[in-house]
Amino acid sequence: MEKQIIFEGKEKRIYSADGEDRIIIHYKDMTTAFGGIKQALLKGKGKYSCRISAMLFSALEKEGIRTHFLSLLSDREQLCLRLEPIPLQLVVRNRIAGSTAKMLGVENGLRIPNTLLEFRYNCDELGDPMINEDHAVALGIATYDELSQMRAIALKTDEILKELYHRAGIELIDFKLEFARDADGCLRISDELSPDNSRLWDEADGRVLDKDRFRFDMSEVCSSYREVMERLEKTIKQ
Ligand code: C5P
Repeated sequence: MEKQIIFEGKEKRIYSADGEDRIIIHYKDMTTAFGGIKQALLKGKGKYSCRISAMLFSALEKEGIRTHFLSLLSDREQLCLRLEPIPLQLVVRNRIAGSTAKMLGVENGLRIPNTLLEFRYNCDELGDPMINEDHAVALGIATYDELSQMRAIALKTDEILKELYHRAGIELIDFKLEFARDADGCLRISDELSPDNSRLWDEADGRVLDKDRFRFDMSEVCSSYREVMERLEKTIKQ
């Protein structure tokens, strides 16, 4: 069957796949930030994000966390389950950085004694506003039971990814998760897990290894993504 484009976004292209319940996700080199205001083509970025995401989804599946990922088809393409998307983002923070550091007026990277979970309504026109569980239920986005499952999955995911990154000498500062429902109504992690939607700092010297390099014109964006990929590959092989 020839693959048809189902959806074309700025950073990804989604194709149909054999079997109605599957899609192919193609990771592009286009990089965007600040709701698409900043854009650039960064050669190789799609490949590194795709491979990192595939490694991390596989690591989560091994630990019993359900994701949309089925297999890596090429450097830039993943075979994934076709799911019912849920318009929510769940940001997990091990330190306070980025928008929450700004909102609370604290230093970027403040160490905290707990793990912060923040829900956001995935809506470009509104700028993905932070919402709580009551808002999500009121808008019919998810049930209280699903939101509580998302919190549990997010905390377990954080433990697994934090440990894996730590073994690669990288500190996982924060990351964003998205969820979707499968044919049985079960929640699965969707979207991606890469330096595009995580803050990753080198444990040795605090060097930024994620999309903040692009957001804040720090150069060497692609080489940092490649470094994350290579360090994870080496760690996983050991
Ligand atoms: O900017 P902020 O501090 O809220 O971002 C928290 C985390 O969520 C970061 O890892 C960032 O890369 C990710 N994020 C994302 N997509 C967005 C906003 C933030 O993946 N639209």
